[in-house]
Amino acid sequence: MNKNSSNIMALVPKTSNKRETVCIFGTGDFGRALGHKLIQSGYPVVFGSRSPWPSSLIPKDAEVLNHAEAAQKAAIIIIAIQRQHYDFLASLEETLRGKVLVDISNNLKINQYPESNAKYLAQLVPSARVVKAFNTVSAWALQSGTLDASRQVFVCGDDTEAKQMVMDIIRALGLTPLDQGSLLAAREIENYPLQLFPMWKIPIFLSLGLTAFFFFYCLVRDVIYPYVYENKDYSFFLAISIPNRICPIIALVLLALVYLPGILAAIIQLYRGTKYSRFPDWLDKWMLCRKQLGLVALAFASLHVIYTLVIPIRYYVRWRIEDRTISQALNNKTTPFDNTNGWLSDSYLALGILGFLLFVLLGITSLPSVSNNVNWREFRFVQSKLGYLTLILCTAHTLVYGGKRFLSPSAYRWYLPNAYMLSLIIPCIVLVVKFVLILPCLDKQLTRIRQGWERNPQYSEQSNYVINKSAV
Ligand code: NAP
Repeated sequence: MNKNSSNIMALVPKTSNKRETVCIFGTGDFGRALGHKLIQSGYPVVFGSRSPWPSSLIPKDAEVLNHAEAAQKAAIIIIAIQRQHYDFLASLEETLRGKVLVDISNNLKINQYPESNAKYLAQLVPSARVVKAFNTVSAWALQSGTLDASRQVFVCGDDTEAKQMVMDIIRALGLTPLDQGSLLAAREIENYPLQLFPMWKIPIFLSLGLTAFFFFYCLVRDVIYPYVYENKDYSFFLAISIPNRICPIIALVLLALVYLPGILAAIIQLYRGTKYSRFPDWLDKWMLCRKQLGLVALAFASLHVIYTLVIPIRYYVRWRIEDRTISQALNNKTTPFDNTNGWLSDSYLALGILGFLLFVLLGITSLPSVSNNVNWREFRFVQSKLGYLTLILCTAHTLVYGGKRFLSPSAYRWYLPNAYMLSLIIPCIVLVVKFVLILPCLDKQLTRIRQGWERNPQYSEQSNYVINKSAV
């Protein structure tokens, strides 16, 4: 085999511990925190400042010079200055020629300026090589070392060598660089710190909406109806009974909504006969937040478990048991044991326990620390096969809970069925359609489509040739 010397070089780690000097413009919060971290990692640091004299705030091993002098000492200059003060950099154009300028700036609003801050910097100093990085790391996290949640540093830039130099520094600081491509990506990267839990918005609003709907539904059925027709005050149901009715309903509906987009995607792919065409935007967004939907569902299921565990110590429950026992004793009457009810009760509890166990397993495997340790097939197996099994168990738990009550006229108040009956609609639809989709004639065709086969290649030519993520 012909060994290429450059290949061999790439496998050999650099043995020299000498680090290149890094220049930081600006001695504000971020500049000082980054300077401190760089010095700890063995980099000589020189600050470029409007006040070029030492201060107790500046790391003592760093040099402080004016901007032009500092820039001459390093190939990489980190601009730790707000964008609105960049203008003076244009006057340093000659000094900054060929240097790597790292733009770390953020904005106060999403898409605040027509162009990204990094692009603006590149326009101000066209002779320099601009790289965007570090903007998602906070000065506080850098200084305190609490970087667990923000170890990833998004990097982008048009000059590959410059980007590589910055990524080397990021790695040396114990952080993980994520190459996002050219400087065009800077706009998106600058918006990241301004987004508030973007993937959680749909699941949170959806669960809040469902909670409000089912709360009023149960209020009307379980509190207002008995008050109007029987003059009974069940308002204390608001504390435990109604929440314990709502939590499993939301958990089941959200769990079904985790699997519904996959089913819709499969139907679209079967209809179009290709996977090479875009899904509608709403479906793309829905698919992207399935993990969050599942975790919110798990939170509601856990609340249901806790509420259920406190049932025996509730005053109302103890009173009902004592009251019934005493009235049976007074009337010298006993209720014979009903074997069917015994089966129904134990089966619904067993299904609930098993469903919750698998639900927890799904939640655990969605944690990055766990999912990083399983391969794609194992992850798919847990999230898809075990996920559907969880949905089957939880739906069966609700169906068996309903038992004989489904057809009883007393289950309807003001023509409103019990809330748990409504919760079964989406899960049952999902399970029935899934069952149809796994019929061999459809499953075979879907598998072929997901392997790249096209029924009508012209269809995808008209589309954008964007490959959809095949639904789990
Ligand atoms: P800061 O504390 O206000 O410091 C900015 C520094 O810029 C000042 O200390 C000053 O340094 C220099 N400066 C101010 N006005 C200037 C002017 N007219 N001309 C030249 N230099 C001027 O801000 P910061 O929090 O360090 O943030 C700096 C940059 O990092 C911003 O773009 C910010 O978006 C970004 N960032 C900050 C954080 C964070 O957690 N703070 C996180 C990510 C990104 P001298 O007095 O030494 O000249």
